[in-house]
Amino acid sequence: MTIVRVALDAPLARLFDYLAPEAGASDRGLRVAVPFGLGEKIGVIVAVAESSDQPADKLKPVIAILRDMPPLPDDWLALCEFCARYYQYPLGQVVAFALPPMLRRGKLPRARKVSDGTAEPEPPLPRLLDDQAAAGAAIGAAQGFGVFLLHGVTGSGKTEVYLRAIDAVLKRGGQALMLVPEIALTPQLEMRVAERFPNARIVSAHSGMPEAARARGFLDGLEGRADIVLGTRLSVFMPLPRLQLIVVDEEHDPSFKQQDGLRYSARDVAVFRAKQLDIPIVLGSATPALESFHHATSGRYRLLELRRRAVAEAPPEVAAVDTRREKLQDGLSAALIAALATRLERGEQSLVFLNRRGYAPVLACPSCGWVSRCPRCAANLVVHLADRCLRCHHCGLEARIPKACPDCGNQDVQPFGRGTQRLEAALQERFPDARVLRIDRDSASTPRKWQALLAAIHEGRADILIGTQMLAKGHDFPRLTLVGVVGADAALFAADFRAPERLFSQLMQVGGRSGRAELPGEVLIQTEYPDHPLYRALAAHDYAGFARAQLAEREAAGFPPFAFQCLLRAEAKDMEQSLAFLAAARRAAEPLAADPSRAPVALYDPVPMRLSRLMSLERAQLLVESHSRPALQAFLAVWAPALDGLKSPRGLRWHLDVDPLEF
Ligand code: ADP
Ligand code: ZN
Ligand code: ZN
Repeated sequence: MTIVRVALDAPLARLFDYLAPEAGASDRGLRVAVPFGLGEKIGVIVAVAESSDQPADKLKPVIAILRDMPPLPDDWLALCEFCARYYQYPLGQVVAFALPPMLRRGKLPRARKVSDGTAEPEPPLPRLLDDQAAAGAAIGAAQGFGVFLLHGVTGSGKTEVYLRAIDAVLKRGGQALMLVPEIALTPQLEMRVAERFPNARIVSAHSGMPEAARARGFLDGLEGRADIVLGTRLSVFMPLPRLQLIVVDEEHDPSFKQQDGLRYSARDVAVFRAKQLDIPIVLGSATPALESFHHATSGRYRLLELRRRAVAEAPPEVAAVDTRREKLQDGLSAALIAALATRLERGEQSLVFLNRRGYAPVLACPSCGWVSRCPRCAANLVVHLADRCLRCHHCGLEARIPKACPDCGNQDVQPFGRGTQRLEAALQERFPDARVLRIDRDSASTPRKWQALLAAIHEGRADILIGTQMLAKGHDFPRLTLVGVVGADAALFAADFRAPERLFSQLMQVGGRSGRAELPGEVLIQTEYPDHPLYRALAAHDYAGFARAQLAEREAAGFPPFAFQCLLRAEAKDMEQSLAFLAAARRAAEPLAADPSRAPVALYDPVPMRLSRLMSLERAQLLVESHSRPALQAFLAVWAPALDGLKSPRGLRWHLDVDPLEF
C-alpha cells in the first residue's frame, strides 16, 4: 500500500494521508489534488510511505498528482518545516503561504518567451573605498555559513558591496537572493541591479505583483532560470537550487516581521536558510537591529563597518532645538522657520518629518470633555480635514465631522494636536509662495500616486516636503538640505521598550536624506529634551554608542536580546473571556515551564493589550519568556498543542507570536 502524506492548507498541525498507488519516492515535493471534507484541496506531498497510522479503510485515494511542475526541493520543504516548528504554525499553512496563490490553486502560469539576446557589455565599476574593499574581501572569502553585519550610514556604499558580492556569485554560476523591506523600494533597486547585471535574469517578488507574474517568478527560481531574486519578506521562500548568497538590506526594518498569519521574521528565516544551505548572508543597515548588533559584538556575526559616505563628504549637521522656553508658532520653532526660509531663498528643498498623519489626532469638546472615540476600538478617531471626515487608523471606520459636540451641543468642537495635514496647512500659510508637498499614506495611497510624488520631488517641483516615515526610506533627494523633526519626543518615553531603537533608526534614516550630493545637510530636531542621550547620540552620529547604552539597559531589565519571548494573544467579545482563556493557558503552562531538565521559562500574568479593543473584539495577551531559546522552543513544542485542547467560548480566537515585535 503506497500512501502520500500531504501538507494541506487547514488549521490543523498535522499531515493528511491519502492512497496513491502510482506514487514513487521522487514525488515528494509535488502538488497533489485530494478530496477534503465535501470538496477538494491542493496540497504538497511531504512524504511517500508504505503505511499509515490511519486504518486502511479510512484512507481516500488522491484525485491527481500534479506533475506539470518540478517537485519543490527538499531544502524548501525543510525551510517550511523549520518555520512550522519555530513559529508554531501548521506545516500545511506554511506551505500554502510560501507558494504563490496561483500555484496553490493547482494552476500554472502560461510560459513566458525567453529572449536569448546577445551579451551586453557590463558597465565600468567604481573603485571601492578601503572599507568597501575590506568588506567585499571578507564576504568573498567566506567558506560556507557566516553572517556578516554590514554597518554603514546611508550613502556609505553598502549597496555597492552587495552588488560586488552578487557579481562574484553569478560568476560562479550561483543564484543570489536580496531582500528589501518595502515594495516601494524595489523599482529603484531593480533599475540599479538591472543596469549593473545586463545579462542576468532578475526576478522580482512581492505580494503586490499580478498573480501570474508572481507564479512565473517562482518557477524561474525553482527551475534555476533566475540569477538574482529581489523581493520583500515573502521572497525568502523562493526556491533557488543554486542559492549561494543572501542579502538582507535595511535588516532592522520592522516590516520584515509579518504581523498576521505566519508571524515570521524574514530576516531570521533568511539566517536560518543560509545556515541550512551553508552559505554566507549579509545583513546591512545604518542602524542595525539591537539583536543583530549584539550578535556582531559578541562574535556570532562578523561586523563590517563602512565609516564614511561614498559621495558626500561630510555627514549632516544635527542639532537639537530646545523648545521648552519658546512659544511655538503652529508647532514650529523660530529656528526651524528661519532655516526653512533660508532654503527657500537658496532654492533648496526641505523636509519636515512628522510621523503622524491626518490633520489632528483627535477632535474634542473643550466645554464637556467629549473626545472623538472609535466605537469599535480603544482608540481616538483622527481628524482628516482633507477628506472631511474622522477616521480610525486601526480599523478604518469613518465618521462625519460633527458640527457640534454630540454630548453637550457646544458648537465649538476643536481638533487637538497636530498631524501632517495641519502642518501642511500651517506651512503653506506661512510660506505662501512655496510649493508644499505632503507625503504620507493618505497622499501616497496607491503606487501610482507615490511614484507621482517622488517624480515631483526629483524634478524639483516641491520646496517643502512634509512626510511621515514613508519618506525616510531609501530615496535620494539631491537638492534636499534641511530636515526638521517635530513631535518626536513622545517616543522617548513610550511604554514599548523598542520605541527608542525605532526612533533612533527613523531619525538617522530621515536625517540621511539630507545633503547627499554636493550640498551639505542640516538636521534640526525640535525637542523639550535637548540633552536626552538619544538626541546626543544622533548629533554625534554615534550609532554604536547608542546601541551599547540601549543594550546595557535591556540587559539590566532582562529584555531581548537577553531574553527570548513569545506572546499568546486572545480576542473575544468580552475581555473576561479573553483573560479567562489566557488564565487557563497559563495553568496548562505551569507544569511545563518548571521542567527541571531545561532552563526556566517565565510565565507572566494575562493582561489586556495596549490597544485593548480592535474591531469590537477585546484583546489580551500572555507573555512567556526564557533566557534560553532552546528552552523556550522546547516549552512551546509541548504547550502549543495543549492550547488546542483548551475549552474556549464561541468566537474566541488566539494565536502565538514567537519573537514578537509589537506589544
Ligand atoms: P548605501 O547602500 O549605503 O546607501 P550606495 O551603495 O547606494 O550606499 O552608495 C551611495 C552612492 O555612492 C551611490 O550613488 C553609489 O553609486 C555611490 N558609490 C558607492 N560606492 C562608490 C565608490 N566606491 N566610488 C564612487 N561612488 C560610489
Ligand atoms: Zn461637549
Ligand atoms: Zn477603530
